[in-house]
Amino acid sequence: MFIALTLFLAVALGVTLLKLFNHQRAVRSLHQALLKKQPFLREDLPGVSGHSWDQLCALSNDLIVEVGHLQQLRNGQLAQLEATLGSLQEAVLIVDANNYILLANKALQGIFPRAVNILGQRLELVLHSAAFLNYVELVRRGTAQPQNEIEFIDGPQATWIEVTGATIQTINGQKAPWTLFVLHNITKQKKLEAVRKDFVANVSHELRTPLSVIKGYVETLVDGSEDIPASDRARFLKTIQRHTERLNSLLEDLLVLSRLESINPGLHRESTDLNALFRAIMDDYRARPAGKEHRLDFTPDVAVGSLLVDPLKLTQVVENLLDNALKYTPKGSTIDLSARLSSSTEVIVCLRDNGPGIPEADLPHIFERFYRVDKGRSREKGGTGLGLSIVKHIVQLHAGRVWVESTQGQGTAFFFSLPLRTN
Ligand code: ADP
Repeated sequence: MFIALTLFLAVALGVTLLKLFNHQRAVRSLHQALLKKQPFLREDLPGVSGHSWDQLCALSNDLIVEVGHLQQLRNGQLAQLEATLGSLQEAVLIVDANNYILLANKALQGIFPRAVNILGQRLELVLHSAAFLNYVELVRRGTAQPQNEIEFIDGPQATWIEVTGATIQTINGQKAPWTLFVLHNITKQKKLEAVRKDFVANVSHELRTPLSVIKGYVETLVDGSEDIPASDRARFLKTIQRHTERLNSLLEDLLVLSRLESINPGLHRESTDLNALFRAIMDDYRARPAGKEHRLDFTPDVAVGSLLVDPLKLTQVVENLLDNALKYTPKGSTIDLSARLSSSTEVIVCLRDNGPGIPEADLPHIFERFYRVDKGRSREKGGTGLGLSIVKHIVQLHAGRVWVESTQGQGTAFFFSLPLRTN
């Protein structure tokens, strides 16, 4: 009796364990099928039976088919969007509710060259800007400004972007968890704006000093006209005259610069004998008081013939360089102008002096507007800080290059090239 009971229990345990094992295997198969999103046959789950299992299989298959359809629909929508947005000039980016990138058109790579193969990546790993991530959240919540200017820092480069964001609405009006952004690169405009602000600030600063000096002296002369001794009056008037001349030079240089930077800078090219032009300029300067205090040499090159250049503008280039050399080198220094045919394509003109030179740290900035090595000395000598900027503009209009070499204590050489051919 006891043996029979033991046998019965052993068989029952065996059957239960077998069933358990079959159920475990069926659950695993089901799990795999759901993961792969592949519909399966009821026969793929041998060893399990019953209405519940039949229902579970049928439901799982329905679910898998439904998910497949939805995914196809989503891929179709993305492909359609990609095709539409791919040709746009504006950069377009779509992210899902968890900030995974669903779509990015080609134009985005134009703005962020490192944003390659970014689909499926998290937004914060691709575009490094806390301000942008914050904006994404605000758009999602529907509390963002329609447009926003955001700075992205990528290494030493700063990129300014104007971004517009919106959540994508589904047909039935419900909010889909996707967010779309249109990005427009405004770095150039931002830089130009900064240059313009800088320029206005510089001009105001340059105008303020002479104007306040003139105003002060004129007020003194008007208020105390009776009591001011004649010698002081003459001194005051001389100071007013000097500062008026400074204002005049500044306005003239500003006008020249603005014309050179305009759409039509008025370049009038004509066949010009460069050696004759430079010789005439040097003769003119030798006859001037400042020219007499220096040694002015001209080294021509017979190989340099006539070039199609604007002789008046080129004269201004050489005069600006010569004026500087006369201003910044002590009396008795040597200033040498030379023009040589350097290759079959260009002439190189050089104005070399043996004056004090320019510190190395200042050399990269010397052609910038209002840049001076010694501000006080430049102003005292009547400099506007615009001479070399004008030189650069005129040379560039002639499709040439301009550069400087200088060693402190030994002198400075300004070079510019003029191409032989004009296209
Ligand atoms: P500025 O009106 O002050 O002369 P420029 O643009 O012509 O303005 O020149 C910029 C600065 O470059 C000058 O202020 C001066 O410090 C420096 N510089 C130009 N030419 C020479 C030179 N030949 N020797 C030394 N310094 C020079």
